[in-house]
Amino acid sequence: MKKHTKIVAAGRKAEYTKGVVNPVVQRASTVVFESVAEMQEAIKGRGHRTLFYGRRGTNTHFALQDAITELENGAGCALYPSGAAAIAQSLLSFLKAGDHLLMVDTAYEPTRDLCDKLLKGYGIETTYYDPMVGAGIDALIQDNTKVLFLESPGSITMEVQDVPAMVEVAKRRGVITMLDNTWGNGWQFRPLDHGVDISIQAATKYIVGHSDVMMGVAVANERYWPELREHSYLLGQCTSADDAYLALRGLRTMPARLKQHEQSAMTVAKWLEAHPLVDHVRHPAFETCPGHEFFKRDFDGSNGLFSIVMKEGSQKAINRFLDALSHFKMGFSWGGYESLVTANKTMEHLRSTTGWTLGPVIRLHIGLEDVEDLIEDLEHALKVYEQNLGKS
Ligand SMILES: *Cc1c(COP(=O)(O)O)cnc(C)c1O
Repeated sequence: MKKHTKIVAAGRKAEYTKGVVNPVVQRASTVVFESVAEMQEAIKGRGHRTLFYGRRGTNTHFALQDAITELENGAGCALYPSGAAAIAQSLLSFLKAGDHLLMVDTAYEPTRDLCDKLLKGYGIETTYYDPMVGAGIDALIQDNTKVLFLESPGSITMEVQDVPAMVEVAKRRGVITMLDNTWGNGWQFRPLDHGVDISIQAATKYIVGHSDVMMGVAVANERYWPELREHSYLLGQCTSADDAYLALRGLRTMPARLKQHEQSAMTVAKWLEAHPLVDHVRHPAFETCPGHEFFKRDFDGSNGLFSIVMKEGSQKAINRFLDALSHFKMGFSWGGYESLVTANKTMEHLRSTTGWTLGPVIRLHIGLEDVEDLIEDLEHALKVYEQNLGKS
């Protein structure tokens, strides 16, 4: 079965859909049994798509879990109330006091905060490594290193990691690998195909696709799925059936949406590349993006999210630029149908190992609006940016 056909069919079992196209929204806390035999059957099958108790999920959740497991070629998929919860619970499912964690220096900011504020207090030590370290990660592995965490491309600055090279080292050294695959979304990058043990996504972004649901997913391979499933259950992780339904609905059209996001983002990025105020484009499909060669080798295309590094900037220029935009709204998320923007004068405070000596970084999410309108919006706002350079 080819890729698009697979995503249309994934998880659409008759027992979930009951004669219509989509699964029934089955809201439940209590599951009731008519006989002792039935109850014992459910106890035996818990965790295996059997109705047992609401926190274990219902048919709506099972349909979504099956579909995402197929998308990412895993053994199973755990659902969480947000992407941040998926990251936290995946780490907490495997780390204990005295363990060492290798975390990419370009991690999503709340992931870094989790390590520095919570895991540290639990006696779990974190070392931040350069995203471009590749097989050199070997030298950073200690006797107590338990987990190697990757995020590719990196948050905001978009460095693409050499995943196969790093996984090879981790496997040899007995270290579990996890990857924040929110940008790669399972359609354009499948970490488990490259040997990663657990692939995590903020489904909040492209899977949901309409900026109206918070959800996280983690897909594990055969080896780690039983532990991830059981530990996430013990940590009380579950989602509502309504949210699971919306995420599954979003997933069906994700490939079609991604194609348009990709095409429009490429057009906008090319236009920005030629703009005199822009130093370079941080888009994995551009040669100016660190790790571009790994993107070409490992990914099936790009999407709507990329950044630009400015030649120079002041906080005032950035603020006026943001206020001058109209189609691009300021917002910390992405992956919906609408265009969004964020900006950082420097990345220094978020890069403890690699630092940051370049100019301000503007991150854009290119939505499904007409690209001419988006370029016009940026052209105007960049004029305002220029007029405010030199002012503090
Ligand atoms: C948004 C995001 C998350 C967190 O997801 P939430 O659902 O907002 O908690 C994690 N990682 C990356 C890369 C993200 O962009």
